Amino acid sequence: MSLPARGYAAIDPKKPLEPYSFVRRDPRANDVVIEIKFCGICHSDIHQARDEWGGSRFPMVPGHEIAGVVTKIGAGVKKFKVGDHVGVGCMVDSCLACENCKRHLEQYCLKGFTGTYNGQERDGSGLTQGGYSNQIVVREEFVLKIPANLPLDGAAPLLCAGITLYSPLSHWKAGPGKRVAIVGLGGLGHMGVKIAHAMGAEVTVLSHSMRKKDDARRLGADHFFATSDENTYAQLRGHFDLIINTVSAAQDWNSLMSLLRTDGALVVVGIPEEQVPVGAFSMIRGRISLAGSLIGGIQETQEMLDFCGRHGIVSEIEKVAMKDVNAAFERVVKSDVRYRFVIDMATL
Ligand code: NAP
Ligand code: ZN
Repeated sequence: MSLPARGYAAIDPKKPLEPYSFVRRDPRANDVVIEIKFCGICHSDIHQARDEWGGSRFPMVPGHEIAGVVTKIGAGVKKFKVGDHVGVGCMVDSCLACENCKRHLEQYCLKGFTGTYNGQERDGSGLTQGGYSNQIVVREEFVLKIPANLPLDGAAPLLCAGITLYSPLSHWKAGPGKRVAIVGLGGLGHMGVKIAHAMGAEVTVLSHSMRKKDDARRLGADHFFATSDENTYAQLRGHFDLIINTVSAAQDWNSLMSLLRTDGALVVVGIPEEQVPVGAFSMIRGRISLAGSLIGGIQETQEMLDFCGRHGIVSEIEKVAMKDVNAAFERVVKSDVRYRFVIDMATL
């Protein structure tokens, strides 16, 4: 017996998502069954559903910003009980034995982590399917506790957007006395502003237009500049300790690096389709680092959720009905979302 599930899937990269029925595995001893209440729409869902990175597997139920309630647990589950508020992010499994997994860096598992969707189950039983659905079965090591004071709808985007910004902000030590720039005020970027502000850093938003200026201030940014204004680069030259680039389109990384102080770092988290050329002089000028960062480990994701609980941080969301997911995708592509769409699974 397996558990029947319903959701929306991409059947083909050229077609809109459509209603889809499938089965989840019966819970094993270490599995948690979660009734999904809300699922955020990440730009990565669109990239993968449309096969923009290559290698996508169909049918695909996207969604890796999952928030819900535990409905059943396996006999060996220790951390969770029925009724708990829980989340699932971008990973549902990894080898848990390699050097990186042992350091709580499951996102860099040397054997490859298992994606929440568009992944292959480690026992070869088939494709993983994500959160645009009514329920999911996940081994307890990859389930996160959502603090009681956070609403599930606003907390859902923390599971990807939140951790993807928290991890580099924490690794590169954003905090008092540090000047941090967040490039792109979208789903990831707006979480970066809130989290960097709560960490005590001086936060600047670099957006492609002036349209989001008032929002950025309200979210906690100290300063706001448009990258379309040519004066911006001259004015901010050598200014930042840390720049996190969340933009999903190709951009001139050399120009962004010119805004760094000596020993500063530009961290790439946005994933454009195109390759971006980088010049040696951009880096040697001030012992500049160009780095990348991928989501965060499970322990760090729990640390981020607890941090957000203490600071009352959730995502700014616009709730959408499941049937409107394709229209929501179009609006994300046009940067017309403030600042994350979250699917209300009660509408499924
Ligand atoms: P999003 O909500 O669409 O935000 C991206 C932002 O980039 C937009 O709001 C816009 O901000 C800016 N932008 C978009 N198109 C642009 C263009 N043509 N020129 C200049 N700026 C543009 O997307 P998201 O969900 O935050 O995801 C952002 C990227 O991160 C995606 O590529 C996604 O796949 C990737 N991602 C990476 C990780 C990771 O672990 N590294 C995790 C999740 C997602 P402004 O209006 O402020 O300019
Ligand atoms: Zn994501």
